[in-house]
Amino acid sequence: MEFGGPGLSSLSMDERATLCNMATECSAKTGICDPDDLTIEWLMKRRQGLTREEIYNSFVFADKDAKYDGGIHDINLDDIQPMVAHPGDPDKGIPSDPTNGAYIKDLGVVNIDIAYAGSCTAGKDDDFAYYAKVTKAALDAGLKVADGVECYIQFGSKTVKDLSEKNGWTDMFEKAGIKLIDPGCGACIGAGPGVSDNDEQVSISAINRNFQGRSGPGKLYLASPLTVMASAFTGQITAWDPELFS
Ligand code: SF4
Repeated sequence: MEFGGPGLSSLSMDERATLCNMATECSAKTGICDPDDLTIEWLMKRRQGLTREEIYNSFVFADKDAKYDGGIHDINLDDIQPMVAHPGDPDKGIPSDPTNGAYIKDLGVVNIDIAYAGSCTAGKDDDFAYYAKVTKAALDAGLKVADGVECYIQFGSKTVKDLSEKNGWTDMFEKAGIKLIDPGCGACIGAGPGVSDNDEQVSISAINRNFQGRSGPGKLYLASPLTVMASAFTGQITAWDPELFS
């Protein structure tokens, strides 16, 4: 899959990485984002010794007359509303994978037992800034993680862990009752804390896959970092809104 246009230009490099990571869930082999000035700046910080021109000349662009077997899809980012990939029910023909989905506003009340944030897909700098934003709002409103909910955040890398500590986010998360997990493949592959114990449990998670049984026998909804963290404090699947805890 290729991504481009003004909407893409408005996204940070972290958000572009999420897009490319999730392209596989649309059955693509990989995802590619059109490079722009932000890409060059990002690479110059990480490939010292290379000039702007050398970086630009290493980019690969699609041919002007390239044909796309999957078609070209225009997405107006203003129209996007918070969604989840629901756990599916293969017995009823509902696939248990992230290609299904539902608007959160149409879900009704879905109480949760586990909120799992982080992992390789949602454990980057920007994701942690989202977790911190929601957690700060919750703490300011006198809230902690909802009763009966276990909330975990897994760092995407050692660099992210260091950033979280430096920004004071780690202390803030712990104060709110969130458990932090070192970088690695945890509940996403059914390993370690955050895996459901039985088929009655409901999880909301920012990991990228919810195939049946992948993270325990429970019902696993996939959602954005903002949704996962908002839900941890309300105890049910909830889209983030800056006024949520007011
Ligand atoms: S198992 Fe999950 S956390 Fe680990 S690399 Fe794969 S998608 Fe990422």
